[in-house]
Amino acid sequence: QAALTSKTKDPYPDWKPGEPVPYAALCKTFSLVELTTKRLIIMEHCSLFLRQVLRLTPGDLLSTVLLMINKLAPDYAGIELGIGESLIMKAIGETTGRSLAVIKQDQKEIGDLGLVAVKSRSTQPTMFKPKALTIQGVHKGLMNIATVTGNGAQGRKVDGIKKLLSAADANSSGKVDITKDKGGPSEAKYLVRFLEGKLRLGLAERTVLVSLAHAIVAHEAAEKDQVPSTADIEKAEAILKTVYSELPSYDFIIPAMVEHGIMNLREHCKLRPGVPLKPMLAKPTKAITEVLDRFEGQTFTCEYKYDGERAQIHYVAKDADEELSQSLPSASTEVGRGVASIFSRNSEDLSRKYPDVLAKLATWVKEDTRSFVLDCESVAWDVVEKKVLPFQQLMTRKKKDVKIEDVLIKVCVFAFDLLYLNGESIVEKSLRERRELLRQSFQQVEGEFSYATSMDGQELDEIQTFLDESVKASCEGLMVKMLDGTESGYEPSKRSRNWLKIKKDYLSGIGDSLDLVVLGAYYGKGKRTSVYGAFLLACYSPSTDTYETVCNIGTGFSEAVLEELHKALSETVIDRPKPFYSHSSGGQHQPDVWFEPRFVWEVKTADLTLSPRYKAGIKEGVDPASEKGISLRFPRFIKVRDDKKPDEATTSRQVAEMYRKQESVTKSKGPAVDDDF
Ligand code: ATP
Repeated sequence: QAALTSKTKDPYPDWKPGEPVPYAALCKTFSLVELTTKRLIIMEHCSLFLRQVLRLTPGDLLSTVLLMINKLAPDYAGIELGIGESLIMKAIGETTGRSLAVIKQDQKEIGDLGLVAVKSRSTQPTMFKPKALTIQGVHKGLMNIATVTGNGAQGRKVDGIKKLLSAADANSSGKVDITKDKGGPSEAKYLVRFLEGKLRLGLAERTVLVSLAHAIVAHEAAEKDQVPSTADIEKAEAILKTVYSELPSYDFIIPAMVEHGIMNLREHCKLRPGVPLKPMLAKPTKAITEVLDRFEGQTFTCEYKYDGERAQIHYVAKDADEELSQSLPSASTEVGRGVASIFSRNSEDLSRKYPDVLAKLATWVKEDTRSFVLDCESVAWDVVEKKVLPFQQLMTRKKKDVKIEDVLIKVCVFAFDLLYLNGESIVEKSLRERRELLRQSFQQVEGEFSYATSMDGQELDEIQTFLDESVKASCEGLMVKMLDGTESGYEPSKRSRNWLKIKKDYLSGIGDSLDLVVLGAYYGKGKRTSVYGAFLLACYSPSTDTYETVCNIGTGFSEAVLEELHKALSETVIDRPKPFYSHSSGGQHQPDVWFEPRFVWEVKTADLTLSPRYKAGIKEGVDPASEKGISLRFPRFIKVRDDKKPDEATTSRQVAEMYRKQESVTKSKGPAVDDDF
């Protein structure tokens, strides 16, 4: 708060009201953020800068926030740069007139492409002074790079990068010393890091969101010659967090916030069909008794935990509210009387994967159901035996551009929640009410659409029997959910204590599997010499934006799977670990090859132990000396998680929680925390 009220000297004197925000001003903020690890100071720098944007050029606020969180558009727009190290190196070389060999050598020595760009840029003779970069210009340039397709796309991407790089640091005076202050506020450095997908500022998206709330509340107060109260700041923060969890799209939120003010934002930005929300997630448990302890004195319900792919189905009838129909992505499919889209767990548009589901949608939506958002699991379905098939069958389906006539593995949609109905968000209603509305608004059609099988019994033996039945029905176990009261509301983006999962094999191991990022590999031995035989895996730490290694794994792979993995991973090989990989430096522990962080695998383990060789959860306080990380014992590969991005992997905090839980089954207390931040 002090920073919001203090009369700080204007750090960007060149930027005049109404003028486009200079990219250099953002880079200056980035460099200040990079020099500290203190979250409050980081927040001060960010909110001060955002406040300045609001005051001088509010029209640029959206692009500014997006560049701060290393995104170009909301996740569901599917816009990704997808640029590997080699393209960036090529562009740096061609912009600065240095050979690719020299760039590669620098990268080997420095290990940070951003700094390689700074070094290359500062040794480059400048013939003429290019026009300085602006935030809008950079956003547009990056957008162009991300969206080029077709013939020669790679070449045009390189051209796009070159264009930005050659204008970078137009205003900087003299050479930047890369050994000092992490390379300083160089534009080239941050451009390259953006292209790599990691700004590495320790600037979590959640911090930007909170800074934005602080900035707007301070700006609004300043307009009235006032200073915001602590209560106002807290209220603004809470409003923005809630709004963002229901409508995770700055494209809607920022213009509404600027126009209507932060305190009125909830009236203008609500969950709406067309904008996928981050789903609610469950906490793992190790025993039915743990579930009973948690829900003691409250009613709960058990549902089958289907083993398929999460599917959020959005629908608007054509003659429903016009504004709503417009918010559906242009790629939405016409289904009977309306248009619909299906989104994945991480907000990707799955409509081209499930045209068969969309084609049948009209058969299970009742006539007077005008608009909805459903939370479901799409599960492989045996049309002959009329039952659920294991997940492996679903994996054999093509991922996009599926033609209905080619579908071999049919899917049935199992709906377990309804979040929006007939123009209204219903996330705050109790689960009992939402379930009632779900059953009134849709009809079950065998093999197409079904409600998740549920059981409301509260006794241990009833739950045990239901769990056994779920396993017989090819499910993963049970989801146990609070049924009544405010705690049973749907909590978007939260891993909540109000949803617990019990997996069928909870009695062995640590209760849950982990989703880990593949960072490196070891060449195979014996029969496996032509493929990788073992891999180095890591969890993700959102607070430091690093991948922390957690195990080597060589078990659970068939020969065919190893071959497939080899093919996919070979394309992502890099010369040395990224600076945001945290692994022990001992020579004997290094993998033979390193990869870009791209693939997430589900892995099971017998238990967790501490080891000086790995870094997982090292900052989570499980080892007082902080020398040992947590590692998996006897890890086993289960499957590739296509529906998770690397930064959606199991977090270091979750690993630490699992480690502590196996020591003594303590019940975690307190409110649900955001999973992704
Ligand atoms: P995992 O799927 O590996 O357990 P996760 O992190 O993807 O982990 P969790 O919160 O652990 O998600 O488990 C919830 C997942 O289970 C949902 O994402 C959904 O895909 C699936 N699921 C299956 N049946 C149900 C159900 N009845 N209620 C809620 N989720 C269900």
